[in-house]
Amino acid sequence: MKAEIVSIGTEMLLGQTLNTNSAYLSRKLAESGIDTFHHSTVGDNKDRLYQAIKIALERSDMVITTGGLGPTIDDITLQAIARISKKPLVFKKEILELIEGHFHKRSIRMPKNNIRQAYIPKGAIWLKNAIGTAPGLIIKAEKKYLIALPGPPREMIPMFEKRVLPYFKKRIKQGSVILSRTLKTTGLAESQIHDRVSRFLRLAKHTTVGIYAHPCQIDLRITSKAANISLAKKNIDVVERAIRKKLGNLIFGSDNQTLEGVVAGLLAPRTIAIAESCTGGLITSRLTDIAGVSKNLLLSIVAYSNKSKTQLLGIQDKTLKQFGAVSKEIARYMAVNIRHVSRADIGISTTGIAGPGGATDKKPVGLVYIGLSTKQKTTVKKLLLTGTRGMIKYKASQAALDMLKHHLSK
Ligand code: ATP
Repeated sequence: MKAEIVSIGTEMLLGQTLNTNSAYLSRKLAESGIDTFHHSTVGDNKDRLYQAIKIALERSDMVITTGGLGPTIDDITLQAIARISKKPLVFKKEILELIEGHFHKRSIRMPKNNIRQAYIPKGAIWLKNAIGTAPGLIIKAEKKYLIALPGPPREMIPMFEKRVLPYFKKRIKQGSVILSRTLKTTGLAESQIHDRVSRFLRLAKHTTVGIYAHPCQIDLRITSKAANISLAKKNIDVVERAIRKKLGNLIFGSDNQTLEGVVAGLLAPRTIAIAESCTGGLITSRLTDIAGVSKNLLLSIVAYSNKSKTQLLGIQDKTLKQFGAVSKEIARYMAVNIRHVSRADIGISTTGIAGPGGATDKKPVGLVYIGLSTKQKTTVKKLLLTGTRGMIKYKASQAALDMLKHHLSK
């Protein structure tokens, strides 16, 4: 079965609303073994909407529309569907009673406009909206299905999960499922990752690997289409094992894991303290996004000025003058001294030039040093980063978290 999603709403064409409905629906359809071959987005315009649904029905077996079911004059999905299915709109008393009940519960008088929502194309199955007023619809025309769902995700999602999916699960021959797993890497560029894993991209039948680049992170998504979930999982496991063998600890996590989450998870029972200069608190901010990290994160300071490096971290003026604030030596002192001040097991530091100004002949924009100090050893990593000020800060925070991860997982 081939599905297509038509998202309705001018606000999406104007870039004011992000179309999360189609991403969600595609994901859910894939999990159920239904292929989605097209997405389209159309504004609140009668003719263009009619055309979009018509084209979709010509090439797909199942068309799901979201949006435009509201009570106002620009909500025109019902009219378009009635025109396409060549069915008149008929009044449904049960729907009106539900809508009236919705307003009654909130002690609001129902606006007259909402009566429009009680009209549906003759013969359509209607789906109760547990959150809002617009009912959803399933219309079967010959061998095709047209499904209309409300636009707000909090109304659309429960309706899709509770009514639409069960409806189709009963009717579609269980031919296959599509399952995905994402492996997340940091530290190498997309092309370097590609070179290392290209041999494994087609290890199992009907299992593919896609490479997706994000700032400082390359994801490998393994997708398998198989007769059932356990077979799909098996196929994915084979490819995952081969990729892990090749990439080792360049992979920091999978699916919903984040680098900061992985680091926070590895920290216990050790404690850490952070002295940030060029990252301006970003490492701390990312780590403190993880609940429970307070047990292990003892202290963090943004030692941005030379004065703060002297007063709070005890780095002497003459040392700062001798090496400059952005130097291997200062990164080392910052990491060692924050560890001493806090009595943490690990001290981590950053100092660098985020730009656009501040560069010298010897110290370009993007030069960053990261220090990591423990009782046994202190190491400093030198980075030459590129990008905007924001990107350099983010990349430096990523490199620091990655350095920590490698240290903690030794
Ligand atoms: P309502 O009864 O609330 O008017 P509706 O079916 O008419 O429902 P729309 O008016 O088209 O829905 O959209 C209402 C809101 O739902 C939008 O302003 C937007 O916030 C959200 N929305 C609509 N479509 C999408 C989408 N594809 N992805 C994410 N959000 C959406």
